[in-house]
Amino acid sequence: MSSDVVARWRATMEAVHEAAVRAGREPSGVRVVAVSKRHPVAAIAAVHAAGQVIFGENYVQEARAKMRALPASIEWHLVGHVQTNKVRQVVGSFALVHSVDSVHLAQALQERAQRQGVVQPVLMQVNLGRERQKSGVLEEDLPELAQTLMTAPNLAWRGLMLLPPVFDDPEAARPFFAALRDLRDRLEQQYGVRLPELSMGMTGDFAAAIAEGATLVRIGTRIFGERA
Ligand SMILES: *Cc1c(COP(=O)(O)O)cnc(C)c1O
Repeated sequence: MSSDVVARWRATMEAVHEAAVRAGREPSGVRVVAVSKRHPVAAIAAVHAAGQVIFGENYVQEARAKMRALPASIEWHLVGHVQTNKVRQVVGSFALVHSVDSVHLAQALQERAQRQGVVQPVLMQVNLGRERQKSGVLEEDLPELAQTLMTAPNLAWRGLMLLPPVFDDPEAARPFFAALRDLRDRLEQQYGVRLPELSMGMTGDFAAAIAEGATLVRIGTRIFGERA
């Protein structure tokens, strides 16, 4: 099983590399977040031993248990929705929180980071598809959240994250990826900040995301197989 998952990981890394080259981009500018939610510690250990450094998890409790069981050389990212009452278990444990989508959550993270004396890197998750069931800040609420992130001394705002509507055709998501990049460019201009990271693209559509400028692609199924 673990040799299987390592073979899938290698094939994924090659596909990501090829997508970057095809897009005329420097392959080192695209990093893979191996999304390991609901996959066992043994699979993560095997993929890490093969060379994968960044792993993404959705659930704080599950992630913390895995952190205790796995080498400290793993860089953990939180890609799932964060409940405000969980910030104590989040700050300082995750190298990057991809999913900050409300002023309330940003303030809670800031308070906790200050208390711990750390600076927590974060991304703003944007709901460009305006999907009710998805998290992510809506465009009209974005300025207030941007102000909060820019002025929070213990948060480092690094960029944007997108979970676009699901389509059968990967190319259908492409306008959303382009829109996230445009939004990032506008925010950089408007606020005079640098937002280098664009977290977008998953198993079904990472090539299109890379073509539109993704710097972090979050890939689960293609590496680990179907989730239980
Ligand atoms: C599960 C998940 C992924 C990975 O999705 P796959 O289609 O399995 O690659 C990426 N991002 C987020 C936010 C997720 O919850």
